[in-house]
Amino acid sequence: MTDYEPVIGLEIHVQLATRTKMFCGCELSFGEPPNTRTCPVCLALPGALPVANEQAIRNVLTIGLALECDLAERSVFHRKNYFYPDSPKAYQISQYDEPLCRGGRLAGVRIHRVHLEEDAAKLVHVGASGRIHGSDASIVDFNRCGTPLAEIVTEPDLHAAEDARAWLELLRTTLRQTGVSDVNMEEGSLRCDANISLRPVGSAVLGTKTEASGRRSRARRRSCAAAGRSSRRRCTSTRARSGSRRCAPRRRRTTTATSPSPTCCPWRSRRT
Ligand SMILES: [Zn+2]
Repeated sequence: MTDYEPVIGLEIHVQLATRTKMFCGCELSFGEPPNTRTCPVCLALPGALPVANEQAIRNVLTIGLALECDLAERSVFHRKNYFYPDSPKAYQISQYDEPLCRGGRLAGVRIHRVHLEEDAAKLVHVGASGRIHGSDASIVDFNRCGTPLAEIVTEPDLHAAEDARAWLELLRTTLRQTGVSDVNMEEGSLRCDANISLRPVGSAVLGTKTEASGRRSRARRRSCAAAGRSSRRRCTSTRARSGSRRCAPRRRRTTTATSPSPTCCPWRSRRT
């Protein structure tokens, strides 16, 4: 019988420790009353224009230095178009082909890129389950909408769920030491998606990739470990309270189109 090994790459979203959101002057918060940290920019009202948060850019460049990345001398923002209730603009401002940081390495794991983007709002599903399935209604809290995020993407250099967990802890320690984020996983300041495939031991060919999203709590980290040994499809996590690891096919952002943002100026290093 053929022995298989997992091939794991990680995508980590890090909420940056800035005073205000990515493109407006709303203060960041956690646990505030819903919809009390909003303005025309993060609510995407007509005519509102974004202004990039300089501290967020500095924080991403600091991450790039800590991970031995090549820092860009010029970078641009793109619009990632998708329709979903947590995105009032119907697009997310992110980075596409010119991220702030490329390459890099941490403890033998290669870093593919680090880029800057804004977070979506938060959906709250009303009902006993707390999940969208079986809920009576879903309401939107826009306090989180526009929060600056660094997305760190690794190459698929990990081959065991336990190694992925240990590497993530090392990354968390590294980020905490730089001061760019409080990396509080329970409050969602650090969230990890795992791209996982299986291949015969000794093979250099990558298998079919499965995306396991939303690893942040301890329960979800256990779920991540399980995903590394099992399925082959794109999944989103359950809102597990006790280590449940059910997967459901991902239903959103399957038709995203990306285009340069016409309202965000390109960023250029002062070195040039
Ligand atoms: Zn705002």
